[in-house]
Amino acid sequence: MTASIEEYDKAIINRQPNFDERKTRSEFRKVIPNLKTVVVHCFDPRVTGGIPPAVAKALPGQIYPGEVFEFVGDNGKKGIGSNTTIFPVVVAGGRASGSAQRSISVACHLFDIDNVAIVHHTDCGGTHFTPEGFLETFKEEFGQDISDLWDADDICLENFTQSLHRDVRSVRSSRGTPRHVNVYGFLYDIETGELHLVEDSPGDKTAPRGTAWR
Ligand SMILES: [Zn+2]
Repeated sequence: MTASIEEYDKAIINRQPNFDERKTRSEFRKVIPNLKTVVVHCFDPRVTGGIPPAVAKALPGQIYPGEVFEFVGDNGKKGIGSNTTIFPVVVAGGRASGSAQRSISVACHLFDIDNVAIVHHTDCGGTHFTPEGFLETFKEEFGQDISDLWDADDICLENFTQSLHRDVRSVRSSRGTPRHVNVYGFLYDIETGELHLVEDSPGDKTAPRGTAWR
């Protein structure tokens, strides 16, 4: 078992002897050449299938899930690509705090991202508890005080307008979000599959953007 994992490790791109980071980045873009939109949404299995296609319909020119295809790279090796335009980032409640924002930054590093859509949904598990109840039961049931781990306003959802406003504002104002990126806050209706735009913050089209993307 250990030996085979080591074999996989040897294939890790950034450990190759002639690794050229900028060239690799430029080539990796071709693997998912149309990627434009990061969608942050909840891990609830009732919505994971519905939200990305709903966003694809709501924003112009978006494709989800698209198709996975095989290609032969410049090095003659077979690769696997996708023509999707959407990357889902799946987190509890669709809250776009810490780890979701790291995924947004990484997506913007690797791909030519234009949009971040944050989607909260009706009947979300995150509307079934309060920050106080969460911290209290965690302490009672697991004996661990986690009150300093997260900001109370990022834990669950008590008001969709406020939670979406907080997340859109937080992603917009983060230095990890390039300024040209549009940020949207949507509410997804779990019964009808409708997506309602609650807030948007258009990107600054004059913001700096590396020549690599042009
Ligand atoms: Zn949910």
